[in-house]
Amino acid sequence: MAHVSLYRRFRPQSFDEMVRQEHVVRILKNQIGSGSIGHAYLFTGPRGTGKTTVARIFARAINCEHPVDGSPCGECPTCLALQNGSLDVSEIDAASNNGVNEMRELREKVQYPPVNGRYKVFIIDEVHMLTDSAFNALLKTLEEPPAHAVFILATTEPQRLPATILSRCMRLDFKLIPEEDLEEHLMRVLDGIGKKYEREAVSAIARAGAGSDRDMLSIAEMCIAYSDELTYDGVTAVLGAADFHVTCGLVHALLSAESGEAIERTERILSEGKSVGVLVRNVLDLLNQVLVAKTCRTAEKLLSLPKELFEEVKGLADGTDGRAILRATEVLSETESELRYTASPRIAVETAIVRIATPAEDYDLDALLVRVKTLETALEKLQKDGVAVNLPPKQALEPSSDGKMPVPQETFAEKLPDLQEDFEEILPPPMEEPVFDEAYFADGETGEAPEIQSGRREKAEELPSPSPAPKAVSDVGSAGTGPNGDATVTFGTFMRTLRRMCRNGVLVTICSDLEAAYEGDVFLLCTDNETVFRSLKREDHAAILKDVFGRIGVERYEVRKKGQAEKSDGVEQLKKDFREYPIDLK
Ligand SMILES: [Zn+2]
Repeated sequence: MAHVSLYRRFRPQSFDEMVRQEHVVRILKNQIGSGSIGHAYLFTGPRGTGKTTVARIFARAINCEHPVDGSPCGECPTCLALQNGSLDVSEIDAASNNGVNEMRELREKVQYPPVNGRYKVFIIDEVHMLTDSAFNALLKTLEEPPAHAVFILATTEPQRLPATILSRCMRLDFKLIPEEDLEEHLMRVLDGIGKKYEREAVSAIARAGAGSDRDMLSIAEMCIAYSDELTYDGVTAVLGAADFHVTCGLVHALLSAESGEAIERTERILSEGKSVGVLVRNVLDLLNQVLVAKTCRTAEKLLSLPKELFEEVKGLADGTDGRAILRATEVLSETESELRYTASPRIAVETAIVRIATPAEDYDLDALLVRVKTLETALEKLQKDGVAVNLPPKQALEPSSDGKMPVPQETFAEKLPDLQEDFEEILPPPMEEPVFDEAYFADGETGEAPEIQSGRREKAEELPSPSPAPKAVSDVGSAGTGPNGDATVTFGTFMRTLRRMCRNGVLVTICSDLEAAYEGDVFLLCTDNETVFRSLKREDHAAILKDVFGRIGVERYEVRKKGQAEKSDGVEQLKKDFREYPIDLK
C-alpha cells in the first residue's frame, strides 16, 4: 500500500471537521445557504492552517445537490464525481506554474461550462508567486468572469499581490491554530490510527507545530516512525528538544552568576553542533518562560508546558530575582541583533554570557542589585547549612510607609570606608585621557598648550588603578616584586593596557579575575579554573596577551593553572567578603 501522509489521510472532508477557522467557515456556509456565491475569494494566512482544505470543501459544497448545513453531502452524483477528480475543480500551484502561458490557458478553460455541477472552481495556490505578466493575464479573467466561474486564490503573503487583484477578491484571513486545538486534533488522529501516546508527547508535538496543523502532523509522523509508542522522550529525541534541560542548566548558571559554569555549558552546547543563533533563541525563549512563571499567577496555563518541564521553569523563577531575568533578556536580545552583523558570533555570545553571569563586571544598578541578591542567597544557604551569619535586617532595604527608602545613617557612615574598598573594583574606571593633537596647539596662538597637556598626562598616571587588586597566590612562593615592580602594580598596568587595546570582552573579563604574582623575574597569571586556563591558552587570546605584555615591557610571563588542592574554601571567601559580619562555623 502506498504511504499516505497523516495530513492527507485525515484531511477534513466537511466544514465541521475543520480545526478552528470558524470565522471563515461561517461566512462561507452562510453564502452557500443564501446562494450568493462570489466570483473570487482570497484565502490568506500562515502555512498549514487549512486554506486549501477549506477551498476544496467549498468547491464541492457549492456544486453539491443537497448540501448538509453548508457542507457537501458526499453522496449525490456531483459529490461522488468531484471526489474522484473532475474537470470542474482545477488546482493550480502558482509556485511551479507562474507564467503568463499558464494564465492564458486558464482563461480559455474558464469559458467552458462545468461538466457535473453548477460551478467551475479554480484554486490557485501560492498565488503570490505569479509573475507580473501572469498577474495581468489573471486580472483580465477576474474582470469579466463567466457566471459559472469561481476563483479561490490562496497565499501566505497577500502583501505581494497587486492591488488590482486584491480589490476584486473577497478576502478571508486564516489564523494560527491554538495549541490546545492542535493537541485535540492530534489525539483524534492518534486514536484513529490506534497509536498509544503519552499526554506530554502530544503537547510537545503540538507546540512544535507552532499553529500549523500540517506541520504538526508531519512532525507527528516522524515521531511515530521513531518508536512504537509515542513517548515524551521519543518526541524530544526527534525534535532535538532534549536540550530543554540542557538550556535550563545554562540559564540556571547564568541567573545564579556562575560565569565559569555558564561558559563551560555554552561551549558544550556549541561543540555538540548547535548554532549560536539557535542557542541564543532557545535561551531567550526559556528566559521569557521563566519571567512569565515569575510574574503571572496563571503561568502554568499560559505556558502550557508538560508538568515536569513547568516545575523546572518554576524552580528557576523561584530561585531568581525578576531583575536578573530582565537583565539577562536585555543583554541577550542585544546580542541576538548583533549576531546578524558580526563576523564572530561565538565571541559575541560568549561575551554576553559572561556579562550576564558576572554582574560584578557591569556598572549599572541592576547588575549591582543582582549581585547583592546572589550574595544574600549564598548567605542564606550558609545559614541553612548551620553557619551563623548576622545579616543586617532585610527590611532596611524596603521602602517605609511614606514610600521613602530608609537610610541606616550611623551604620552607613561607619561602613563607608569599607564599602569604598569593597566596591573599588566595580566602580567605573576613570575617564580615558583625551588625546589632543599636539601640533594643533603648538601651531596655534597658545604655544603653552603642549606643556599643559603633558602636565595632565602625568596627573593621569597617578590615578589609582581601576583594576581589581590581585589576590595573593599561596603556591607560588614570593608574590612580591619583580623586575617591573610590585606584582599588584604590574597587574594594574596589564589590565589597563588590556582594556584599552582589546575589544574581546570575554578576555578582559576573565583576566580581571586572575591572580598575579612574581616568581623570580617571571610574572605569573594564575587561575584555578580549567575553562579559564584553556581559554587563555587559545591561540588568539595568547597572541593578545603577548602583545599587551610586550607593550608594558614585561619580558617573562606565564599563565599558570593552580592545583585543585589550592582551591579556596567558600566559607573563607565569604568571611573575607563580609568582614563586618561575624561568621561562625558550628
Ligand atoms: Zn452532494
